[in-house]
Amino acid sequence: MNAAARSARNAFADLELDRLHAQRGDARWLEAAREDPSARYLLSLPDAALWATPGGDALQWLAAADLPAAQRAQASLLGRDARGQLYYFHLAATTVPPGAGRAQPLRALAAAAGAFDAGLAAYAVALAHWQRHSRHCPACGAPTLPADAGHRMRCTRCGHEQFPRTDPAVIVLVEHGDAALLGRRPGWPAGRFSTLAGFVEPGETLEAAVRREIAEESGAEVIACEYHSSQPWPFPASLMLGFNARAASRRIHSGDGELAELRWLSRAQLRAGLADASLHLPPSYSVAWHLIRDWLARVPT
Ligand SMILES: [Zn+2]
Repeated sequence: MNAAARSARNAFADLELDRLHAQRGDARWLEAAREDPSARYLLSLPDAALWATPGGDALQWLAAADLPAAQRAQASLLGRDARGQLYYFHLAATTVPPGAGRAQPLRALAAAAGAFDAGLAAYAVALAHWQRHSRHCPACGAPTLPADAGHRMRCTRCGHEQFPRTDPAVIVLVEHGDAALLGRRPGWPAGRFSTLAGFVEPGETLEAAVRREIAEESGAEVIACEYHSSQPWPFPASLMLGFNARAASRRIHSGDGELAELRWLSRAQLRAGLADASLHLPPSYSVAWHLIRDWLARVPT
C-alpha cells in the first residue's frame, strides 16, 4: 500500500472534491451557483459541530430556498463533487435551523459518517475556525472583509491579506526491535496509549521535528524515519503527518511532562493487553490507530 492509499484510510482524508479555485473570485459565477437548485448548503456550528441528520450519521443539507438571500451571499464555496452536479456552500452559524436535524460534533461524525461527509465536514470546520479568528488584521488591527468566496480575508485599512492556515504536526510510531514506544497523556483513562506527537516549528524539516519531538517527550534518540500518511485534523487547525521511526536504543527518560506514562510495548504485550482490555488504543478514525495497527500487522501472530 502506498502513502496515498494509507492516507485515504484516515478519517477526514478521503475527500474527492474539485475545490473550484478559479471560480472563487468570479462574482457572476458564484451568484448563479448560489441560486442553483442543486446547490447544497451545510452549516457549521460553534465547538466544531455540524448540522447533521437526526441519526447523526450524515450531514443535513439545506437548499438555497431554505436560506435568506443575505445568508446565501455570505456562504463560502467548498467545491463540487465527482459527479460534477453539486456545489457545496458552507455557512458558519450560531443557531440551529428549524426542521429535522441535530448538532453533531465533528469527532462523532468521523466515527459515524461516510468518508465524503466526514472529509467535507473537516474542511468546513477548519475554514469556519479560521474565518472566526481572522476578523481583524494581524498587521494593524482594523476589521477585515472576506474575499474569494470565504478563502481570503482582506484588511479594510492597510490591505493586508490573510489566507486559511494549517499547522503541521508530526505523529510518530517509534520502534526498536519488536517494541513500540507509546505514551499516555494526563487525563486519558488508565491503559490508553498512543503514538507521540508535536507541532513542527518554524525553520524545521519534518525529519528534524520528528527527532526533536521524540527526544523532548521521551529522551529516545531517533536514527531514521519514514513518512506513513497524513490526516487533516481541524482541532482547530492541524495537519497530522504520520511517521514510522527507529530508535538507537530503548533508553528513555521521564520526558518533558507532556506525558503521564511512557512505555516500550512489544507486539505480544500490546496484543495481550488489547485482548484482556488492560490496554486501549486511540479512536479508529485517527492516524495514530492506523500507525499502531500497521505496526502490529507487520509481524502476524
Ligand atoms: Zn491592516
